[in-house]
Amino acid sequence: MGEKFFNTEEFKKLTLRQAFEFAKDNPDLLVKTSLEVIEKEDKVLNAFISVNKEAPRGVPIGIKDNINVQGIETTCASKILKGYVATYDATVVKKLKSTGFSVVGKTNLDEFAMGASTEYSSFGPTRNPHDIERVAGGSSGGSAAAVAAGEVVAALGSDTGGSIRQPAAFCGVVGFKPSYGLVSRYGLVAFASSLDQIGPITKTVEDSAILMNIIAGKDENDSTTVERQIDFTQFIGKELPRMKIAVAKQSFDEGVEEGVKQKLEEFVRFVENFGHSVELVDIDEIKYSVATYYIIAPSEVSSNLSRFDGVKYGLRISAEGLREMYEKTRGIGFGDEVKRRILIGTFTLSAAYYDAYFEKAQKVRRKIAMKLNNVFEQYDFIVTPTSPIVAFKIGSVSDPLVYYMMDIFTIPANLAGLPAISVPFGKVGHLPVGIQIMGPRFSDAKVLGFADQIERHLKDK
Ligand code: GLN
Repeated sequence: MGEKFFNTEEFKKLTLRQAFEFAKDNPDLLVKTSLEVIEKEDKVLNAFISVNKEAPRGVPIGIKDNINVQGIETTCASKILKGYVATYDATVVKKLKSTGFSVVGKTNLDEFAMGASTEYSSFGPTRNPHDIERVAGGSSGGSAAAVAAGEVVAALGSDTGGSIRQPAAFCGVVGFKPSYGLVSRYGLVAFASSLDQIGPITKTVEDSAILMNIIAGKDENDSTTVERQIDFTQFIGKELPRMKIAVAKQSFDEGVEEGVKQKLEEFVRFVENFGHSVELVDIDEIKYSVATYYIIAPSEVSSNLSRFDGVKYGLRISAEGLREMYEKTRGIGFGDEVKRRILIGTFTLSAAYYDAYFEKAQKVRRKIAMKLNNVFEQYDFIVTPTSPIVAFKIGSVSDPLVYYMMDIFTIPANLAGLPAISVPFGKVGHLPVGIQIMGPRFSDAKVLGFADQIERHLKDK
């Protein structure tokens, strides 16, 4: 690649492996080109909240703006963090910097990662590179759009109920949520701590595996991380033996777009063709996942977001007394969706309703996890569409309940702490479709290996 003419179109397609190779001979050129592409594309896409014009040489990466990068503002796409500059690098960022990555910018998201479209960002929505009238998905919409448009070689997102996988599906790129506990959350602004995981958004499955090898690992600053040595690339480029795949019957329920159902049927024939066995399995518990999530996540939100009070970080609206200062700061600083979640969470955790809601939801969470584990006793993977629909028009979904239902297939992996990937599988019209592959806890390398096989066979098709 070194001698070849290098232009921005070529840059946009670079995989991580190629980028590292290229950087050996041309250490400055990647960041320079990335900044040029951002300058040009982002006027329309709005994938970045801030761009680091002084980014050092290295392989350009985008970091979701709820992950701390020292010396740069962390906004969480909220007004309440205005002026807050991170004083330290998140563990994942520290690791990336020490392996030759350069953070060229912080990517757009729904405020505090609450959303599925990046429309709830106080910096305006991110546009989908496949159709700029449509959303990029969310909450890591900025990261997914930036990778899809080739503004950066790769990006990091965070996933609490689908926020890596769904935008990856909408933008036609790869998004991977690791098993809970593999990647440190130190330096990630907490949304719902028992569900949050950081993970990669990339152009290829191999790139996600390479990034996982860098960012995973036990961290003394996050007590929920586990000691496990996994080579995430071990099955990349290999043919897997015959796998048993459960396609959740719920993938064909009403509410799932016709075109998406057809792609899934096509997917089934496709993987059967290269030797895997597929069965339709009824996983009825999936239908309780959204209701369960929307009690557990807001409960954790009401607790986690209490720290934004006008005293410690960012925005402060002055007032007569302390209480008024809190109220004004939070009233003006938080957007409607964040307030909605705080209100729900405060209610579900209140003494009078704790048993009826929070405790009940914890029990259902356990049931869902048990059911999935049962399925994994007989099958290697559970497959569903990543999202029941393809990218929708900006501003077209206003009912929160309709909006929340979009997470139906992605939430179970978070409730159960499982690894799950969204891999691109063709298009409906001009809009990308993602297929989700979920595996047992800590089977991350195998999930990546299977997704890689799909990607390679698709290329040969
Ligand atoms: N869309 C889901 C929500 O709004 C998931 C968000 C996420 O994974 N951060 O909560």
